[in-house]
Amino acid sequence: MPGIMILHPGREKSLLRKHPWIFSKGVMEVKEPPENGGDITVRDSAGNFLATASYSPESQIRGRIWSFDPDEKIDTAFFERRIRKAWENRQALIERTAVSAVRVIDAESDFLPGLIIDRYNGILVVKILSAGTEYHLQHIRSALEKIFPDDVIYERSDEAVRKKEGLSERKGILRGELPPQPITISENAGMKILVDVVNGHKTGFYLDQRDNRAALEKYCRGRDVLNCFSYTGGFSLYALRGRAKSVVNVDVSGPALAIAKENVVLNHLDPGRCRFVRADVFEYLRKSRDEKKKFDVIVLDPPKFAESQSQLQKACRGYKDINMLAASLLNPGGILMTYSCSGHMTPDLFQKVVADALLDAGREGQIIEYLTQAGDHPVALPFPEGLYLKGLVVKVS
Ligand code: SAH
Repeated sequence: MPGIMILHPGREKSLLRKHPWIFSKGVMEVKEPPENGGDITVRDSAGNFLATASYSPESQIRGRIWSFDPDEKIDTAFFERRIRKAWENRQALIERTAVSAVRVIDAESDFLPGLIIDRYNGILVVKILSAGTEYHLQHIRSALEKIFPDDVIYERSDEAVRKKEGLSERKGILRGELPPQPITISENAGMKILVDVVNGHKTGFYLDQRDNRAALEKYCRGRDVLNCFSYTGGFSLYALRGRAKSVVNVDVSGPALAIAKENVVLNHLDPGRCRFVRADVFEYLRKSRDEKKKFDVIVLDPPKFAESQSQLQKACRGYKDINMLAASLLNPGGILMTYSCSGHMTPDLFQKVVADALLDAGREGQIIEYLTQAGDHPVALPFPEGLYLKGLVVKVS
């Protein structure tokens, strides 16, 4: 029998709206607590059944909902049903855009809290981020073996957030044998991209920016483009395919820039129009301003500046800083394509930060496109926190 978690009066409301989290302050009592990550029955203060959740005694998020159905057992069949459904939902995207790499499971937004699965060709890269998914790892693995009988399964649970759940970092093979890295994936009408699933960031690549990389192409013809936080050069490939005059890639990571260079050659694009600069973007932008460098198109795709609500103010200063500097480097009529992937930064706030940045730079701007994460990174309606990627295309006069 699983343990029982009883919520304070009124704390059942978010669960009745199918929100998947229970915060520690909402919990009145835990009877017969299971081990870290084990299943627990959640009841309201009157004793009514609310959900079956996983129990995270060390985390602020004390429970994550597996199911709102009192009869649903959390076993291999459960994971198989949810993963199959999510995989079916990806088929239209795969057929439409001929991508060979997709996010199969996007955690809460695919009704599997704490689980991320990206599939690169036939390699499933799995991230186990919560005590609950750790507890059920064997079930998840068995479900994946049934749905993807020929796939290699590689685990990348090397994320610091696991500490909040009382878990240490880990990575390694779960099934089969990895081909030599990097492998080649394709997206958006035949663009080839090298991905190292072992040593690359996250699961190897930023699949969430797929549509937005393609959106850049149309702005670049004959233009001088600056791609800040370029990683393996994703945006730059589209700039080059869109016949940019020149493209500068800036990133702190040497290995990422080395792959960026290879990606240009792999796609038969002109490396002569490309530069690869290993630098801190903040410093690079400041130096470029002092040297009076100019660009026509600038992409800013920084890492998450705010990991928590308490870091938001500092993050805003960082976002404002890079956007102000970038605006000051743009020729009149230039394009600023700017992103924030911090979930704590709301779309409204991000727009305000960018507006303030342009104001400080003494430039006027108009938003001509609103961008967000690709469709294989959905947002479950009861879970607005699932929206994290915001992008603005600003025409700067
Ligand atoms: N635009 C990329 C993804 C960018 S991820 C794509 O579409 O694939 C963010 C990148 O920023 C990472 O490659 C990381 O190495 C780099 N980075 C983080 N902090 C940085 C800094 N201060 N200066 C330069 N690069 C930084």
